[in-house]
Amino acid sequence: MSQSREHAVVLGASVAGLLAARALADSYERVTVVDRDPLPAGGLDRKGVPQARHAHVLMRAGVRALDDLFPGLLEKLAADGVPVNYGGAHSWTEFNGHVFQRAGGPRIAPGYQPSRPYLEARIREEIREMPNVLLRDERTVQGLIASATGERVAGVRVVSRDGEEEALPADLVVDATGRSGRAFTWLRDLGYDPPEEKILAVDVMYASRRLRLPGGLPEGLRSVLVEPRTGQPVGMALIEQEGGEYTLTLMGYAGHHPPTDHDGFRASTDRIAPAFLPDVLRDAEWLDEPHRHRYPASHRRYYERLRRFPEGLLVVGDALCSFNPLFGQGMAVAAMEAVILRDLLAAGQENLARRFFKAAAERIDPAWQMVMTTDRAQLGLPQSAAERLIGAYVRRLHAAAARDRVLVEAFSSVSSLVELPVTLIKPAVLIRVLAGNLRRG
Ligand SMILES: Cc1cc2nc3c(=O)[nH]c(=O)nc-3n(C[C@H](O)[C@H](O)[C@H](O)COP(=O)(O)OP(=O)(O)OC[C@H]3O[C@@H](n4cnc5c(N)ncnc54)[C@H](O)[C@@H]3O)c2cc1C
Repeated sequence: MSQSREHAVVLGASVAGLLAARALADSYERVTVVDRDPLPAGGLDRKGVPQARHAHVLMRAGVRALDDLFPGLLEKLAADGVPVNYGGAHSWTEFNGHVFQRAGGPRIAPGYQPSRPYLEARIREEIREMPNVLLRDERTVQGLIASATGERVAGVRVVSRDGEEEALPADLVVDATGRSGRAFTWLRDLGYDPPEEKILAVDVMYASRRLRLPGGLPEGLRSVLVEPRTGQPVGMALIEQEGGEYTLTLMGYAGHHPPTDHDGFRASTDRIAPAFLPDVLRDAEWLDEPHRHRYPASHRRYYERLRRFPEGLLVVGDALCSFNPLFGQGMAVAAMEAVILRDLLAAGQENLARRFFKAAAERIDPAWQMVMTTDRAQLGLPQSAAERLIGAYVRRLHAAAARDRVLVEAFSSVSSLVELPVTLIKPAVLIRVLAGNLRRG
């Protein structure tokens, strides 16, 4: 097996691709990141990431991983005016119709609220400053190049906007092309089976607008989140972002698509929002019309289960696992994968794909399980007895969290992927859930 670490190529320069490039830069002499879009200098929307117009939350596990990969970046974001949400004190959060107690707890680390295009642009700037990483935009990847024996991936074929074809030889190729996950189909061309894939159709629709709020939100709030629930399949998120702008997103489950005309959007928001919000929104300066984005299905591709896989190829980010966006996990999981990749490479290149997919799966598993259990209930699909029990327990936890900051912290640590779901049934938590519900009862 070649141990050369001369050149790595990353396919896709969105969040997962950029973070993977950062990880590879420690171990490869040169890293090239290819994307078919022109990559703007600032935080502008671009065609390849249409979801970027919509509310994006960076989970705490993602904040932590980002800090590890780019020390000092969080401070730069805060200095640039990205709102920082300390310990939940600045969030209005409603789950299953229960509003969480708000006093921020010390165990909840600060959350950062950059818009998605802005966050990507700041990461891109960090990458552009790295001497051994080259971003090559306006180039579409067309396929993988196999070695003579077909045992390994030896590079990729790209074509520029003006039709110029080029072969990029590489010791390692990392597929970060998002949900389409090109490697999934290209594997067949190389004579390999694609991985088993699990898909859960959710038919989620987002509708989002940017706005300014002259007086801001009351009580120092920086975000308002109302999760969809049984009986109310449309939820909302209002998030303060850099430059004094807010993103307001309505998100509907299972074909309950939010309206995109001004009046319908406003009326729908007023119906879902907490009582204080319609008044606040009356003074809003709307900066654009509602944009829609449809998310058909979560998918997970089990690369870790493949018996045969070529050397010199990895898959990261949404190409590996794409979660229902309502759970806000994609960027955090991509960041955790980048940390895994960096650390595995530091320990050696032997069996890299096997070690990487296994370690990534351990991170993906709890997040995926949470999404599957919640979505199956929300969609009215048949559930196992264990899933029904978990669902009932979590509803009670949400109810008790309305008056218990410790439960807010416990739940938030799990939903933001810092702790494993099993921590929610520790005796200390269980007792508070029971006591809280007895008090309510
Ligand atoms: C509506 C919505 C809301 C979301 N909200 C959240 C949230 O709140 N929190 C969160 O953490 N995550 C959220 N996500 C998920 C998040 O957007 C992704 O997880 C994140 O962008 C990382 O994805 P990625 O880099 O793997 O792929 P993508 O962001 O999809 O990027 C893929 C890149 O590959 C490029 N590309 C594709 N094919 C080719 C090719 N053949 N050649 C060259 N380049 C190519 C594209 O141009 C693009 O730049 C949301 C997703 C959606 C759809």
